[in-house]
Amino acid sequence: MYGIALDLGTSGFRAQLIDLETKKVVRTAMTMRHPLPGGNVIDHLDFALEVGEDIANSIILDAVSKIIATFGVDPTCIRKLVVCGNPIQLSLFQNSEIRDLAFAGKNMQRRLGVENVDRSAKVFPASDLFRGVLNLPNCEITVPPAIAHEIGADALAMMIETDFLNRKEVSIVTDYGTNAEMAIKTGDRIITGSAAAGPAIEGQGISCGMIASPGAISDVNLEKKRIEKDIEKDCWRLTVLDEKMEGRPGALIDPVTGETVERGEIEAVGITGTGVIAVIALAMETGLMEQPPKLPDGRLILGNGIEITDADIAEAGKAIGAIRAAQLTLLLEAGVPFEELENVYMSGASGTYVDCRKARKIGSCPDFSKKAVQFGNTSIALARELLLDESRLGEVIALARTIKADHLMMATSETFKNIYTCELSYWTEGMSLKLYKKFFKMYKYPPLPGPVENAVMEKRASKDIEETGNVPVEIVEDVGITIEVPVEGCIQCSRCNEECPENALVTIEKNGSFFASCRTQDCLGTSCRRCVRACPIKAIDFKNIAIQNTSGLQKGSITGGVY
Ligand code: SF4
Ligand code: SF4
Repeated sequence: MYGIALDLGTSGFRAQLIDLETKKVVRTAMTMRHPLPGGNVIDHLDFALEVGEDIANSIILDAVSKIIATFGVDPTCIRKLVVCGNPIQLSLFQNSEIRDLAFAGKNMQRRLGVENVDRSAKVFPASDLFRGVLNLPNCEITVPPAIAHEIGADALAMMIETDFLNRKEVSIVTDYGTNAEMAIKTGDRIITGSAAAGPAIEGQGISCGMIASPGAISDVNLEKKRIEKDIEKDCWRLTVLDEKMEGRPGALIDPVTGETVERGEIEAVGITGTGVIAVIALAMETGLMEQPPKLPDGRLILGNGIEITDADIAEAGKAIGAIRAAQLTLLLEAGVPFEELENVYMSGASGTYVDCRKARKIGSCPDFSKKAVQFGNTSIALARELLLDESRLGEVIALARTIKADHLMMATSETFKNIYTCELSYWTEGMSLKLYKKFFKMYKYPPLPGPVENAVMEKRASKDIEETGNVPVEIVEDVGITIEVPVEGCIQCSRCNEECPENALVTIEKNGSFFASCRTQDCLGTSCRRCVRACPIKAIDFKNIAIQNTSGLQKGSITGGVY
């Protein structure tokens, strides 16, 4: 008998097959992308609202089925599936209402006749949802409770799985990811928020980027190499994730010339978000980058064809800036002086693999907190706990009811807007820190304190998923579908596919008509649309999507207990 713990993340899914008798993890699998188009939850919402939630739900269930297929067990032996994620991912998975999450503001919701949805814990037969997709006759699905309709199970997981809820001092917890969930606790008051950081924080949207997975550079460190009797050279030692997701010494390289000075134990194939943060911190520390985003000759080379460019620094900076702006906004809105921030808790793959000192150096983690603690993937940890201990669900439901949290919408916060504008200018336009601080003063925000030099930094997890089983982590590559957009009058100029940053799109001809054919998992969605802008005859309109390859997928509806 098996159970599956599933984390539906904004940049990809992670799942673990667990033997319910031995309680051991048998296998772990992950996708490299989210199956829906887009680099953030808003793109996923837009896609679902545009093409219909049934289709979005079908694509997600198809991806989950492919993950389950890689486990190689008879689906009738799967008894439990516990799924965690943010409210948007969990709603899309269950094919339930999402419009209350799409339209901010009570007035707008009233105009559209949209009610807030109750996102209490649910337990229901898997056959209700996976009907026609995967035969799971003996499986029950458990969805943990949200704290409020827009504060999801993933936020609950990051609070429960860290020390956050027990702290009396001012503490911030952040689940570092594409949609960075975060919360501040001051006394008994909790305010939650989230920053749509974008996929760069996890390595996507970076030219040689990849999600934290085997072969990804997760860190870089300075190392001296003696090249002649009295001459030492500054080189960078790569840390590369192996098949068990542990960091191992990679090559020693000269980042300016790209020369491999010494081979490593493991070859890198790309760089993940924490690796990019390390590159930025090290480039600033060693003087290779005086002011973002300008690198020497516009790039640094990490060997094996892996480069970080000015554009990558700007892209990563936008994500770092969004997280930093949201954390500062939470502090300001809670009325807490910056100096009173005691604890910072970091979770998620990006919160685990990052070198905390470097994260503090570049601002993705406040450098004025007195303590920083790194945890792993708290969503999958909670899903695993609920899978292995049935009584835990009752406890978690009771706990969720006791948490009185307010949610701060960053999208409508003037404070967030002001600080994020400063961050964007710093990371992408070369605005100096001096000017940044001037703007802060102009907005009448208190000055940012200097870094706490002797801060306590504690790492409570060495991997984002502590136990992955005895076989290498399985990567599920092909999780999306193909969508086709009719492009009437297409002159076959190829500008759309040349402009596409992800090579997601080609134009094809069928029975004398032209279509733009696009892989959902590769497309960056509504936040991109470069293909649309590039077309000289304005032929591409993603509202006219025709779906390919979804035959056999059917809409499920959910019955069962709501707690
Ligand atoms: S250019 Fe078009 S197809 Fe390519 S990622 Fe952007 S929106 Fe998607
Ligand atoms: S840019 Fe427009 S006209 Fe050119 S190939 Fe693409 S769809 Fe056709």
